[in-house]
Amino acid sequence: MKILVQKFGGTSVADPEKVRKVARIAVSARKQGYAVAVVVSAPGDMTDDLIDYASAVSKKIPDREMDMLMAIGEQKSIASLAMALAEMGQKAVSFTGEQAGILTDGIFGKARILRIDPSKVLKALKEGSIAVVAGFQGVDRKGEITTLGRGGSDTTAVALAVAIKADMCDIYTDVKGVFTSDPRVVQGAKRIRTISYDEALEMTSLGAKVLHPRSAEIAKVYGLKVRVRSSFNPGDAGTLVFDTGSGKKLKIKTRGEDMERTYVVSATADKNQAKVTVVGVPDRPGIVSKIFSPIAKGRISVDVIVQNVSHKGHTDVSFTISRVDLSRTMAIVKKVAKELRAQTVMHASGVAKVSIVGAGMYSYPGVAAKMFTALAKKGINIEMISTSEIKISCVVEEKDADNAVRALNREFRLGKK
Ligand code: ADP
Ligand code: ASP
Ligand code: MG
Repeated sequence: MKILVQKFGGTSVADPEKVRKVARIAVSARKQGYAVAVVVSAPGDMTDDLIDYASAVSKKIPDREMDMLMAIGEQKSIASLAMALAEMGQKAVSFTGEQAGILTDGIFGKARILRIDPSKVLKALKEGSIAVVAGFQGVDRKGEITTLGRGGSDTTAVALAVAIKADMCDIYTDVKGVFTSDPRVVQGAKRIRTISYDEALEMTSLGAKVLHPRSAEIAKVYGLKVRVRSSFNPGDAGTLVFDTGSGKKLKIKTRGEDMERTYVVSATADKNQAKVTVVGVPDRPGIVSKIFSPIAKGRISVDVIVQNVSHKGHTDVSFTISRVDLSRTMAIVKKVAKELRAQTVMHASGVAKVSIVGAGMYSYPGVAAKMFTALAKKGINIEMISTSEIKISCVVEEKDADNAVRALNREFRLGKK
């Protein structure tokens, strides 16, 4: 049995007409001989609306109840899609995360999938039904409903595809694939035909929300082929995410590009960043660990870190985190700063991280200099920098982020030829 998982995002199931269109895409795959499991997100802006609604009800929302509420959106989509499929004469069964056997840890709002028991979904597929599974949600060991974090339906789809041994996972969205930059921000952004898992992972964790980063991670670990395609142009091949090979030669060949292939494949911005600075910390061995250990214990991921040159035995330590974690981080850091007798703690919530990504970057000298010059030419101030073999990130003011991405797209010739 050849199995295909298809995932449709919010815009693809925003109204009854779009739901019927999704049903037609799923039935067409079924007619090509695939057993089909479809993962859907909440329709349109329903998740955002639910968050606004909750904030209007209460200023202090218990995490458990927030997940209980957030899970509603996807349930509307699975039921509607199963109805549309039934109307077309196609057998279909809808599944909540729990019914689909998706077991997660108990961290509400950013739960991780522990394992999937695919037996019920597989049974439906064997019976010739299309299995329609709610994205973004699961259940923990205590039976509590959990959600995987914003954009998490992609992760549900890829994890389910691995669990049911699907041949491929098609992520249908509202753009024609993965682009060199967000096509809604950069007019000349170019669609990428094939991209390696590592590049996709790096791009998405740096803010390209076309895929949930954890979905790229799972696809890489299990070697699952993922295609990102447009639900409005389902005939288009989209972008294939897979292992383009470790050798550079193979990479160039599989991309179908010549030797002039650009070494930077994408420029992205992550606007959900905040910066914290601990000012005037006594510069002693172990100080940095004293600051970051309690933050790690609070399960907060720290990103770019900069420690200034010591001045009269004191130094400043700055770091970035996700904006949602800012108030929790400030509470922790203020306490530590007092213990360490640091001068003060400052924060800025209006920062963004702008990055360039490309697996071939490492072997090309001068990429970083080119990036800094492009930003300088636009008068954009760089507050922090971090690099790896395949990315360079600069923290800038949030208001400059889109401008920066456009400048980088031009500088590295990522746009349409
Ligand atoms: P869905 O609801 O289908 O999951 P999302 O809104 O989560 O869709 O993701 C698709 C959006 O991602 C696109 O509309 C686009 O604006 C944005 N995006 C950001 N960066 C990129 C990129 N590099 N390539 C393609 N799309 C991107
Ligand atoms: N509905 C959820 C969200 O808006 C999950 C998703 O769309 O992937 O974040
Ligand atoms: Mg998404």
